[in-house]
Amino acid sequence: SGTLYIVATPIGNLDDASSRMRQVLAAVDCIACEDTRHSGRLLTHLGIRKPLVSLHEHNEAERVPGLIAALASGENVALVSDAGTPLLSDPGFPLVRSAVASGIPVCPVPGPNAAIAALSASGIAPEPFRFLGFPPRQPGARRRYFESLAEVEDTLIFYESIHRLAATLADLCQTLGAERSACVGRELTKRHEQLRHGDLAELADWAAHAPEARKGEAVIVVAGAPANDPDEVLQGEGARAINTDALLRALSE
Ligand code: SAM
Repeated sequence: SGTLYIVATPIGNLDDASSRMRQVLAAVDCIACEDTRHSGRLLTHLGIRKPLVSLHEHNEAERVPGLIAALASGENVALVSDAGTPLLSDPGFPLVRSAVASGIPVCPVPGPNAAIAALSASGIAPEPFRFLGFPPRQPGARRRYFESLAEVEDTLIFYESIHRLAATLADLCQTLGAERSACVGRELTKRHEQLRHGDLAELADWAAHAPEARKGEAVIVVAGAPANDPDEVLQGEGARAINTDALLRALSE
């Protein structure tokens, strides 16, 4: 059979297109992409002409069998998304799962990813981290979701639509606490790239007032909850309670 290549593409800066990315896209028989016009522009920039097959969240289930059949017949297929690494808040998981189940080789061609780029420059503990993608859009559901994450000690990474950035930062501030450290990575790799560091109160205030916080694309990185060391509790309050118990027992004997 052929090979399915999972190819990361730039998240803004076309100079992030690697030579391996170009070689693979130039060599495959067809390219599955989210938006044929969008990927068509990238391929024109790279000087590559290939048959394109659209694969987006609304047609993915229908497209998978045809692509698997093409791969099984020996064709090499590349999967790209509009930007960054496919599957990460982008289409592709059903295709990869199906390829793996069918014994078709899957080869990653790694490259840009907004979450990892933001994490690497955030100044927030890089491990362990939890990549959460987009939070719920509805305010009520979003707040309940953030409340469910309040005790998580891992660094949290979210994608968010720029239209909801201010509302989401306000909700994070309310549910996780005003003093949690965080970082917003906006327009990463682009001309107006911005890494805004602060606690959630400062970032929520910035997002509510700064005109630039309404433009472009943004990733939110939030520090995890402070560790709750059970040993410390036992040595402090717990230890005192045990000793008091022993003392009371000794006194009553
Ligand atoms: N698969 C992509 C990746 O690997 O990063 C992410 C696709 S997801 C549909 C789009 C979201 O990623 C945006 O809403 C934003 O949160 C984030 N994003 C993408 N490009 C970005 C950039 N240049 N700067 C900041 N955030 C970006």
